[in-house]
Amino acid sequence: MGYTVTWADQKLNGNEIAKLNKDGLDVFKDLPELVKHPFSEIDPSYYMYFKYAGLTVQKPQSAGMFMLRVKIPGGRINVKQGEHLAWIANEYGHNVIDLTTREAVQYHWAPFNELLKIFQGLNDVGLTTVGAEGDITRNVVDNPLSGIDPDELFDTRSIVMDVYRRFQGNYDYSNLPRKFKISISTDIHNNADYQINDLAFIPAVKTIRGRQVQGFNVFVGGGLGSKPQLAQQMNIFVRPNRVADIAEVVCGLYRDHGFRRSRSKARLKFLIKDWGIDEFERLVRKQLPRLPYAGETKIVDWNKKILGIHPQKQQGYYYAGISVPAGRMSGDDFRAVVELAAKYGKDEIRFDDKQNMIIPWIAEQDLEAFKAEPILQRYSVKPGLLADYGTTCTGAEYCNLANAHTKSVFKPLIDELDARFSLDVPVRITMTGCGSNCAHRSIADIGLEGVHARTPDKKQTEGYRLAVGGSLEGTGHFNEQLKGTLSAQQLPDALSAIINDYQDNREGEESFYHYFNHAGVDHFQEVLNNYLSTQTEVLR
Ligand code: SF4
Repeated sequence: MGYTVTWADQKLNGNEIAKLNKDGLDVFKDLPELVKHPFSEIDPSYYMYFKYAGLTVQKPQSAGMFMLRVKIPGGRINVKQGEHLAWIANEYGHNVIDLTTREAVQYHWAPFNELLKIFQGLNDVGLTTVGAEGDITRNVVDNPLSGIDPDELFDTRSIVMDVYRRFQGNYDYSNLPRKFKISISTDIHNNADYQINDLAFIPAVKTIRGRQVQGFNVFVGGGLGSKPQLAQQMNIFVRPNRVADIAEVVCGLYRDHGFRRSRSKARLKFLIKDWGIDEFERLVRKQLPRLPYAGETKIVDWNKKILGIHPQKQQGYYYAGISVPAGRMSGDDFRAVVELAAKYGKDEIRFDDKQNMIIPWIAEQDLEAFKAEPILQRYSVKPGLLADYGTTCTGAEYCNLANAHTKSVFKPLIDELDARFSLDVPVRITMTGCGSNCAHRSIADIGLEGVHARTPDKKQTEGYRLAVGGSLEGTGHFNEQLKGTLSAQQLPDALSAIINDYQDNREGEESFYHYFNHAGVDHFQEVLNNYLSTQTEVLR
């Protein structure tokens, strides 16, 4: 370990005290012995160590089943890896695979006594679960189109892998106060959502000694969770070959100074808020002197050009962004999409952070045959439906923290809305099962959050609250909560009222976010109130 623990004599939360005695990565030393005994012999205080292996004990916690998350740096896999991921879904995951909001995949129902076998199988195809969860650097997200993107400043794939290798399995950065999320992209459409990451590198140019240099501007302290915060810019410009150095310095400052007393205040965003961005930058510069000041940012808009079929920067080739409604597929469907990469592409499948898949390298002459493939009649490559832009988290089906179900409510809701509306501008709807924001509820046009609710006769039930007007356009804006709690059955009509209002009153083809900006949150509250006034039963 190449650092000194500076926090041992502070007041610490329970996880921190445990981590002083045993590092999270040590779970891999423990597992061979642990799996020889029944799961019931493991004390629940140990469960947090499983996270470092990408595992969360699934409910009911006594069953010895896990949610298992795979780490996929930059969201890129080959066909062999894709086939293996489909096989895991078939073999262990009840034939279900979920796409995550960090360009990766996860499963449920991984059995305790099969874990070593699963890890070995992943390892054999060059995949891992190490650090997919836990107080550690999480999956590094990249421009989902890097290397093929006509609009990127330059290819970021090798930079992402460099950063991944610096941190992966590295005991110097495995005892962080909480998770640490990195985004690296030169996509001018900000498809790697820089504002909601702890550390983000975004496309920038700077004239240095009379020469225009391409590189990155740097943002820190973004994150969602129950107290979302947009990342703030440091006045720093970074050349591509210094990205990993900056990442290490920022992560080291967080490790040494981040708050470890309360887990709810442990993310980097709280440290930046406490210190201020200037002081944070001063301490970065202290370790990396002579970094140039920030350059000209090249981002022009947000969240464009993933879904559908588009030309690559390589002439004659196209990529297909395939919509995966609610981010959930059967293992068989996943395999069918992977097979498209083998048949039409170049041994490559990608994921974005909106729970969609991308097949690159389709030759122009193969496009019609590709579009006619049966699997694409169910997973759209024709963007335009509400379902294309929605994301959901795991919710009450498996998540221990959830207040309400998500995927089983979201899919029929979106299908119903798609049947009612034909939109020319995408409206992004997301659903999370609690305030933790795993499906990025706060940046959606319409965000739905599961809450505990009561019926008029005081029976406990699941409810949903709405927030409107989120976007990462420009510097970004989190959506604003409306008053009122809805049942799952009320969601189609309540959301229809909101979408109708947008369709009827918007100016030209303005986006939902732009309409929200001049209509205002009070207007949407009135729309929701009007809907609620028609209801005989309203949840509290
Ligand atoms: Fe679980 Fe809440 Fe995260 Fe959904 S948002 S996966 S319910 S913690």
